[in-house]
Amino acid sequence: MSAPFPSHDDLASLVAIRHDLHAHPELGFEELRTARIVAEFLAACGLEVMSGIGGTGVVGTLRGKSGGPHIALRADMDALAMPETADRPYRSTVDGKMHACGHDGHTAMLLGAARALAKRTDLAGTVHFVFQPAEEGRGGADAMVRDGLFERCRIDRFYGLHNMPGIPVGRLAAVPGAQLASSDRWEVSFRGIGTHGGKPHLGRDPIVAAGQFLASLQTIVSRGTDPVDTAVVSACAVAAGDFDALNVIPDTIRIGGTARAYSHTTRDRLEAEIARVANGIARANGIDADHVFHRLMPPVINDRATTARATEAARAALGGENVITDFPPSTAGDDFASFSTRVPGAYVWLGNGPAEDGALHHNTRYDFNDAAIGPGVRYWTTLVEQELRAA
Ligand SMILES: [Zn+2]
Ligand SMILES: [Zn+2]
Repeated sequence: MSAPFPSHDDLASLVAIRHDLHAHPELGFEELRTARIVAEFLAACGLEVMSGIGGTGVVGTLRGKSGGPHIALRADMDALAMPETADRPYRSTVDGKMHACGHDGHTAMLLGAARALAKRTDLAGTVHFVFQPAEEGRGGADAMVRDGLFERCRIDRFYGLHNMPGIPVGRLAAVPGAQLASSDRWEVSFRGIGTHGGKPHLGRDPIVAAGQFLASLQTIVSRGTDPVDTAVVSACAVAAGDFDALNVIPDTIRIGGTARAYSHTTRDRLEAEIARVANGIARANGIDADHVFHRLMPPVINDRATTARATEAARAALGGENVITDFPPSTAGDDFASFSTRVPGAYVWLGNGPAEDGALHHNTRYDFNDAAIGPGVRYWTTLVEQELRAA
């Protein structure tokens, strides 16, 4: 009978790290303490360590024999600006900040895998353990890319993992294709000619144009998007006029919202369609429109061949019956996409068990499940063993 992996002591130390990170949450690009703990841990394992990449990012590199592939594994380190309302021994010690997305667990698991793999002498190839800052909408992955991650590290394939409540502990979902939507923001302003509310014919009313625009916006998905694909275009803010001046038609109205898609072509199309509808409606009303589309996050789209490798590793690590191959994509985003649009990637969902008290990601009671640490470490470790298997 072989010894359990990770060992009881290894697991206990990873749980302790996880609880310590949970108690000391740091927001995006502020992960100084977390990054220091990560860098010291990796160095103590004997890995090459690069700190301060993309702000607070850390990369630990394990070099095996030559000839094998160069792969990267991603964990995110940041917490969220929200209070923790659950009472637990390791609850957040920082007011208004908490690990409500389980990135404390992601960090602990990847450290566990790095420690287990650092002892191996039979691997051929290179593994980069990438600890990224600022996943929660602050652009940490992009910051690492801009800071030369791909120039400093040769990376053939990128692997990501996120915990998922609702999937039982010990199970993992690995699915090719779209996993998470693109997440972009847009703004449209209509510039007319303000006038007396009683004399609309003397101006050019931007508010009526905005009404037409908001109605037409709905046709971008219903009429302009392939029905077997899908997308979201939502207007989430409108600003114009003054309730203390209800006899004044204003000069301008500003509208903003979010756009989400699961493919690069649909994402491009949403940008073009929002501009087309805004310009067309402005023209019909004899006014001007300005529009901007800020690309924040591309969709996370799993490469088929890379996902097959992830699936094989998950089957070997967790048992075939514990690997889910059909799991619906999420309309949330993950900037892992900034890595997986550059090289083939596979992003998997690790079971976090039932949603305790109904608490899901970004809930003030959410918590990573310590029982998922073992399966997560086994998945990462097996993936590297299979990828870097010496010929
Ligand atoms: Zn999150
Ligand atoms: Zn997250």
